[in-house]
Amino acid sequence: MHKKENVYQMALRQFDEAIKYLKLKRGIIEYLRYPKRELTVNFPVKMDDGSVKIFTGYRVHHNVVLGPAKGGIRYHPDVTLEEIRALAMLMTWKCAVVGLPYGGAKGGVICDPKKMSPQELENLTRRYATEITLMMGPESDIPAPDMGTDSQIMAWIMDTYSMHKGYSIPAVVTGKPVSIGGSLGRDEATGRGVMIVAKEACKRLGMPIEGATVVVQGYGKVGAVAAYLLHDAGCRIIAASDTKGCIYNPNGFDPRDVLRHKKETKSVVGYPGADIISNEEFWELPCDILIPAAMEAQITAENGPRIKAKLIVEGANGPTTPDADKILRERGILVVPDILANAGGVTVSYFEWVQSLISFFWDEEEVNKKLKEIMTKSFAEVWTVAKEKEIDMRTAAMVRAIAKVAEALYLRGIYP
Ligand code: NAD
Repeated sequence: MHKKENVYQMALRQFDEAIKYLKLKRGIIEYLRYPKRELTVNFPVKMDDGSVKIFTGYRVHHNVVLGPAKGGIRYHPDVTLEEIRALAMLMTWKCAVVGLPYGGAKGGVICDPKKMSPQELENLTRRYATEITLMMGPESDIPAPDMGTDSQIMAWIMDTYSMHKGYSIPAVVTGKPVSIGGSLGRDEATGRGVMIVAKEACKRLGMPIEGATVVVQGYGKVGAVAAYLLHDAGCRIIAASDTKGCIYNPNGFDPRDVLRHKKETKSVVGYPGADIISNEEFWELPCDILIPAAMEAQITAENGPRIKAKLIVEGANGPTTPDADKILRERGILVVPDILANAGGVTVSYFEWVQSLISFFWDEEEVNKKLKEIMTKSFAEVWTVAKEKEIDMRTAAMVRAIAKVAEALYLRGIYP
């Protein structure tokens, strides 16, 4: 298992691997390895008991050559500057690989939102938003939800920023509620993107999607949506898991019914149409498509050799360790990497930003159609690079992304 401290080193390792396939000047490589700017803020928050507590937050811009910085804000007790730096870098590549006019950013506050009241969370959010206004803005840096943050928190950030300016500026964040300028289709976007690239990968593998068996780790905003959309596409969803355990039915189950059960009972475990299995059994299930959609470092050197999937589509960020990656490659299992597979979320965030800027809103059908076009085209581009250079899709996605940023950098030149 890689440690959190190593997340940035891991991002750099992936970068160093990819640049072997590109002819870049030394200075450009160095430029791309470092974040452009990093802000650390220590700020006071009034707590419900009348005390004042100091919190630490960060906002990092990795690169803004292609456009304004884009990336989520994470509220978690384990947030570190190094982690935020790594995630900002990955956002640069994610936006570039699907061709969005954005650079990469990430933010975070060291806090435990589960232990804070709504009032404390609002106080923290409004003060943090004020502190990062130095970097944030609809033309410069557009945050979005990440772990521990949601559409309500985006609404508070949008309101805080707008109060300072004196008028409403919805384009300053994405992932907002639809009633204040959010986009239709945003909630399902990441899972929908996973479904689209899974179908594209199946086509390339000559594996019929109809009847393909699917195993999903993590049954949240990404995993559950990917499960029911793949079910709609004709797949058989045979297993799912969450923090409480794993369920399995070789004949398949109705993923929407499982989601209903999870909403009622807080877990997939106990769903009447499936048996409970252990975590070890879960990873060893024979299946066509495996979707890790929970968290980082789940497919490791330990379980990698026992995985029996033909295709892995990474819904989560960083679910496969570099050691496991090597094992899967040697075993001929195709992995569609996170920066491509879960880019549906940031793609519809981009649509939300565009709609907020022009105050003209699209219907859900249009959002989904445009998402499909971008995901299908991006998959095809990465697939072509992988075939031409005879490399895995993760390296190919990085090569494609770095090439796009480097080209923009060459064209713009080094200032002054
Ligand atoms: P979520 O909180 O809605 O769902 C996560 C799910 O994973 C929950 O069902 C949880 O119980 C389960 N889970 C957590 N740890 C687990 C474990 N060890 N074993 C099994 N299940 C476990 O989160 P989400 O938004 O669906 O995000 C999931 C992953 O996708 C994260 O890595 C996130 O960074 C990534 N991602 C999300 C989006 C998005 O738009 N939501 C976009 C890009 C990437």
